[in-house]
Amino acid sequence: MCGIIAAASNRNVGELLVEGLHKMEYRGYDSAGLALHQENNITHLKALGKVSLLEEKLKSENPSSTLGIAHTRWATHGEPSEKNAHPHKSNERIYIVHNGIIENYASIKQILIEKGYTFQSETDTEVLVQLIGYFFNQGKLNFEQSVRAALQRVEGAYGIVVLNKKEPDVMIAARKGSPLVLGIKDKEFFVGSDISPIINHTQQIIYLEDNQMAIIEGDDYKITSIDEDVSLPKKVEKIDF
Ligand code: GLU
Repeated sequence: MCGIIAAASNRNVGELLVEGLHKMEYRGYDSAGLALHQENNITHLKALGKVSLLEEKLKSENPSSTLGIAHTRWATHGEPSEKNAHPHKSNERIYIVHNGIIENYASIKQILIEKGYTFQSETDTEVLVQLIGYFFNQGKLNFEQSVRAALQRVEGAYGIVVLNKKEPDVMIAARKGSPLVLGIKDKEFFVGSDISPIINHTQQIIYLEDNQMAIIEGDDYKITSIDEDVSLPKKVEKIDF
């Protein structure tokens, strides 16, 4: 399991995220990546190997963004490669970073393939984000409900942070088995897989408990349970295992 850092701020966060990844380099990793929200776009960069390679890509693109997620990967499913590096995405719309292992990924992947979904990577993580996308794409569940509906159907361990291209001021974090920390300072929010990448930026630290989800939206945040009921509307096609 490797490192996550995410930030929702009122300043440009790209460099801050890469700096956070550098602070987690001691953990060991094989690749790194980030997704930065911009008005109607997401800048999505990945690099196999050192964080400094990702940093070079960031410098040459120089995107301006106040909301982003970043990750260093320690491969569990799929070889170390650029295509397997995080963030993973669904439909160019929902982006995820994930620490941990989705144990029932193979059966979910099979069902999604039968429904016409295609996969770009060999990771268990992409299956989770495509499952979130599957619920969201049906248009009956909002972003938060779609994340929850997907998490209620996966087994394994995860610390995740998710972005949605259509919701430029929303970031959703959740954990089960893998650690995740929320940092707050005034109207800035940070998420880390430990405190090392975020401690310098925060006044208040909240250690998310197992099965908790944090929804950060604009200046505000709430913490809820992953297990909260999501009654799927009749028109949402269910995936059951
Ligand atoms: N299981 C995921 C993968 O292989 C996450 C690995 C990690 O925790 O870095 O991509």
